[in-house]
Amino acid sequence: MNIILLGPPGAGKGTQAQRLVEKFGMRQLSTGDMLRAAVKAGTPVGLQAKAVMERGELVSDEIVSALIGEELDAMGTEAGAIFDGYPRTAAQAESLDGILAARGRKLDHVIELDVDEDALVERITGRFTCANCGKGYHDKFEQPRQLGVCDKCGSTEFKRRPDDNEETVRTRMAEYRAKTAPILPIYEARGIVTRVNGMAEMDHVTAAIERIIKS
Ligand SMILES: [Zn+2]
Repeated sequence: MNIILLGPPGAGKGTQAQRLVEKFGMRQLSTGDMLRAAVKAGTPVGLQAKAVMERGELVSDEIVSALIGEELDAMGTEAGAIFDGYPRTAAQAESLDGILAARGRKLDHVIELDVDEDALVERITGRFTCANCGKGYHDKFEQPRQLGVCDKCGSTEFKRRPDDNEETVRTRMAEYRAKTAPILPIYEARGIVTRVNGMAEMDHVTAAIERIIKS
C-alpha cells in the first residue's frame, strides 16, 4: 500500500500520518526529513545532496528521486509508504511512478484532507494557550470554565501564536492549492483521489482514511 497524503496546514495531516505509521507500520516519506537524514547519515545520495546544497543550489528532481529510491530499498517490501510533500509537479509524479514500478510497487491512493477555508480560519485564529502550562483553548470551542483563568493551573496569562491570524492562514491555503494543482488532475484522471473531511473529529478522519486504505 502506497499513498500520497495531502492536506493544507491545519488540516491535521501530520497527526493522521503518524497514526498510519503506528497502526499499519507504514513509513512516512517526507522529502525534507529524508534529505536531512541522508545528509547526516552520509549515504551516497546524501553526500551528493550535501555538495549541491553547499554550493547554494536547489536539490534537483534526480536527487530527490534517488533519495526516495534509497529509502524504499531500505524499508523493504512489507511496509507501505506515505508520501508527504512529494510529488509537486507533473514531472515528479511521473518519476514517482517509475521509482515505484522499479520496485514492484504502485501508488494506490491519493487521500486529500479537505477543509472548508472559512472554518479553518475560525479554527486556527481562535486558538490560544495558557502561558504557564501550555494547555490549549479556543475562543469559540473551548474557553476555560472560568473566563480568563486556566482550568489546569489557574494562571491568568494566555498567549497566541503570531502565525495564527487570518491573513497567514489564507496565504497558506493559496500556497497549498498552487502546490497541489499540478498533480491532482493527474491522479483524478486515474480515479485514485479520495477526499476526506478534514474538519471532522480527528478520530473520524482516521476512521475514514482507514476505510479507504482497506477498500
Ligand atoms: Zn495553565
